[in-house]
Amino acid sequence: MIEIPRGSRVFVLTGAGVSAESGIRTFRDANGLWEDHAVEDVASPEGWERDPALVWRFYSERRRQAKAVSPNPAHAALARLEEQLGDGFFLCTQNVDALHEAAGSRRLVHMHGELSRSRCENPGCDLPPFADEGLYFTLEDIPRCPRCGARIRPHIVWFGEMPFELERTWQVLGACDLFVTVGSSGVVHPAAGFVREIRQRQLQGEHPRSVYVGVERPANASAFDEVVLGRAGEVLPGLFGVRPA
Ligand code: NAD
Repeated sequence: MIEIPRGSRVFVLTGAGVSAESGIRTFRDANGLWEDHAVEDVASPEGWERDPALVWRFYSERRRQAKAVSPNPAHAALARLEEQLGDGFFLCTQNVDALHEAAGSRRLVHMHGELSRSRCENPGCDLPPFADEGLYFTLEDIPRCPRCGARIRPHIVWFGEMPFELERTWQVLGACDLFVTVGSSGVVHPAAGFVREIRQRQLQGEHPRSVYVGVERPANASAFDEVVLGRAGEVLPGLFGVRPA
């Protein structure tokens, strides 16, 4: 068990592995395919230019799947930890599903965007991202922006695009006492580099700790102080003990 004195600042980074036990497939486990698609076809600006209907079919399927899944004990354990730590808790997820929110997490950032939102593809357009549960399967289905007429795209950060809220995220990371990563293969940057920031702070004489939880050692395992091997839904519920400072 990891003892966390009340008043500590805890930064948790989650990857696809935290949602695996809810029935959402990760993609490293499936030979680099994400639900049977090459990632560059459905999650890159080039894929969008080539075949926007395929991209929307893919995310429409993900939206449909999202309605059929529920949070698992790992999501619940993180929501409970947030309840205990309040503003000392920060969750940064690479996942686009809404399972953390469904479990009760509130202080979270979706660094790679959200499945349940869309936005205009034109970066110069001022239409803000909006909640969207629409399912689009053909070119004709793809809605047009009411302000500029460009196509509406998923509010997802694709490979090669800039993650959201990085500045705030690095700030919180630079001040945390405990950094926990759950179910992330440690290859997608910048998230894979967060643990190096913790190492760097240790080299400068600070004392943040870092822990990885997942079914196998991630690519960046050597940078963590501790690696706990196991399924997130089995490990997380008993991992943290918050005690009076
Ligand atoms: P990844 O697919 O690269 O790696 C998943 C990791 O989770 C692997 O290391 C695997 O060993 C581990 N894992 C599998 N089952 C687990 C379990 N039950 N408990 C704990 N760990 C488990 O995922 P990533 O590192 O998050 O990066 C992939 C990118 O793919 C992310 O940017 C994300 O946006 C996207 N993605 C998102 C979802 C989602 O929203 N649920 C699903 C697939 C991919």
